[in-house]
Amino acid sequence: MGNMKVTVIGESGGAPLAGGATSCYIVEAEGYPVLLDIGSGALSLIQRIRSFDEIDDIIISHFHSDHHADAGVALYSRLISMQLKRPVNPLVFHAMESHKLDMAPYSYVSMIDEDTVEEIGPFSVRYMRTEHPVPCLAVKLSYDGKSVVYTADGALSDRLAAFSSSADILIAECSFYPGTADDAAGHMDALDVSDLAVSAAPEKLIVSHLPVYGERNDILRCIRSRWNGETLLAHPFLTAEA
Ligand SMILES: [Zn+2]
Repeated sequence: MGNMKVTVIGESGGAPLAGGATSCYIVEAEGYPVLLDIGSGALSLIQRIRSFDEIDDIIISHFHSDHHADAGVALYSRLISMQLKRPVNPLVFHAMESHKLDMAPYSYVSMIDEDTVEEIGPFSVRYMRTEHPVPCLAVKLSYDGKSVVYTADGALSDRLAAFSSSADILIAECSFYPGTADDAAGHMDALDVSDLAVSAAPEKLIVSHLPVYGERNDILRCIRSRWNGETLLAHPFLTAEA
């Protein structure tokens, strides 16, 4: 029994900033890490804080490149470690399709969808399909009566609010500045994220999947003006505990 910890690795939507990464988060409890997405630049940044050999489970929310671009090289990293006879386990990608990531004995794919309930390390994991141009899953990891919810990509919906309800840590995508979301894009802007926070009432909100242009603090100011809970703007190596 203990805490859940979230570490942001990549916080950018679409493309990484110089020296940064797109979507990637480490969620851990009892020292067991699970990766949520592994976007562009993520494998490099992870290694600034831990050996990638310690990570066995990667959940891929959907197959847009800013969420899975480094999956293939993660597989090669594991292949190299196994061929060097380091004491490592095969990688397990939890994903909606195999996407050439099933490469035994180095990696396996555990197929997931909305109805899947998985036990990954100490976590119980559930999924929900979001409103996005390609099939995409929001993720809820539960441990010891606590939960971390990751919206992945998707438009605001009542279902997403219900799925996120009372999360201890809610990692919410915010692709656009206030009022600039294109409804057809299947993303949230800062107004949507604050509405989501009001509905779901998380203990802590991490705003991520941020634009790579403009002044990101405008997003934080907007959300804080509409919701009083603890709100953090994601950046590489930001941590939050529940
Ligand atoms: Zn996407």
